[in-house]
Amino acid sequence: MKSVQICIAGGGLVGLVAALAFSRQGHSVCVLEARDPALEQPAQMDARSIALSLSTIQIFNALGVWPQLQQQTAAIRHVHVSSAGHFGVSRLHASDLQREAMGFVVEYHVLLRYLLEAVSRDSAIELITPARLLDLQQTEHKVTLHYQRENKTVRLETSLLVVADGAHSSIREMLGIAAHTDDYHQSAIVANVKTTHAFNGYAYERFTVNGPLALLPLPDQRYALVWTNPPQRSELLMRLSDQPFIDELHRQFGYRLGYFSAVGKRVQFGLTRTRSERLADGRCVLIGNAANTLHPVAGQGFNLALRDVGQLYDAIEALDLASSGLSVGLTEYESARKKDQQRTVQLGDALVSLFSNDLPLINHLRAGALVALDVCPLLKQEFSWQGMGFGAGYSSLMRGVPR
Ligand SMILES: Cc1cc2nc3c(=O)[nH]c(=O)nc-3n(C[C@H](O)[C@H](O)[C@H](O)COP(=O)(O)OP(=O)(O)OC[C@H]3O[C@@H](n4cnc5c(N)ncnc54)[C@H](O)[C@@H]3O)c2cc1C
Repeated sequence: MKSVQICIAGGGLVGLVAALAFSRQGHSVCVLEARDPALEQPAQMDARSIALSLSTIQIFNALGVWPQLQQQTAAIRHVHVSSAGHFGVSRLHASDLQREAMGFVVEYHVLLRYLLEAVSRDSAIELITPARLLDLQQTEHKVTLHYQRENKTVRLETSLLVVADGAHSSIREMLGIAAHTDDYHQSAIVANVKTTHAFNGYAYERFTVNGPLALLPLPDQRYALVWTNPPQRSELLMRLSDQPFIDELHRQFGYRLGYFSAVGKRVQFGLTRTRSERLADGRCVLIGNAANTLHPVAGQGFNLALRDVGQLYDAIEALDLASSGLSVGLTEYESARKKDQQRTVQLGDALVSLFSNDLPLINHLRAGALVALDVCPLLKQEFSWQGMGFGAGYSSLMRGVPR
């Protein structure tokens, strides 16, 4: 029978980073991923881009994956926040915070491919694809699970099962952990757009009555668009051909970036927030979207998940994974993560309710919030600090110490 110290179920972005982290810690790691990444060509892959916070960059640095990846990212040095049809603009600058950048943007498929390569180069990690976890049982000393691979069912034993199987986690259900889902009744259209002007390092967040619209810088004078709307309006926008779509985008965003000269493939995502009631059960722990799925408005889902990985790394650092102390360590990890997770979720929720609403009182509040943010350095610093991922302290991976 196969046996490994840590098994990670789910080889999405979060599962792959977790694998690299635990391998650096000296553990043998196996990743089970249900999809076959070899069959997915970039064109079919998810078109979204990910804004990486500085806390994430620090973790990437500690894992040795940043220097090369950085070449395929664009830096965010300024954030311009505005509200369509109302006064009030806020500008956040990295230089005000004595930073070179506030974050970096990378295309999802570039990051996924890069992490897959890093994992395949690591001899302590076995990546098994396509392999779907089917069931599990746990005792005080081990987790025994079965996964399906090429029409065969394989049995595997592990000391720690890290559950990273995404928002609709079936493993969470197997563990009997309830999850609460709130539907924002919104969906996001994601696409890359080309512009005739590019202001180096500027990211834009524009709040409209229908929902927020973000444009994040990408290499080659392109921007990653995340445009949130009520589902029916999103459907209509998806059905438009490119030019009418671009015209509507101009109506909402204006001409700060000159003209949108081209738009790439559009992909639509329904937006829900899912919160798992518990993060740990015995020798199993939930991370990433399986633990918390957030609204993409604040660009924090992946960043929050990497802070989970950082804290989990610390929680198991001094433990013998085979000992019964592991489940106590995981319970402590769960309590330690609560504050950061709640704060991040609340920040996203506050932005969504404050900025996707056309009630007159809310309009005043919104304009006031933007002006306050623009003129009050402390408020700005706190907001940026949260966005950069430093609001909840540092794990040792964030300090750059793969011990
Ligand atoms: C439009 C949009 C924009 C976003 N922008 C940002 C951003 O700017 N910044 C940011 O930080 N976050 C952002 N996010 C969030 C970010 O994309 C997610 O937080 C992150 O991708 C979650 O990764 P994951 O690995 O937890 O889940 P997933 O990517 O869902 O991966 C789960 C994996 O598990 C596999 N799997 C499922 N079941 C099984 C099983 N039984 N056995 C084995 N494998 C299984 C699946 O095949 C999948 O590959 C955005 C999200 C959206 C929708």
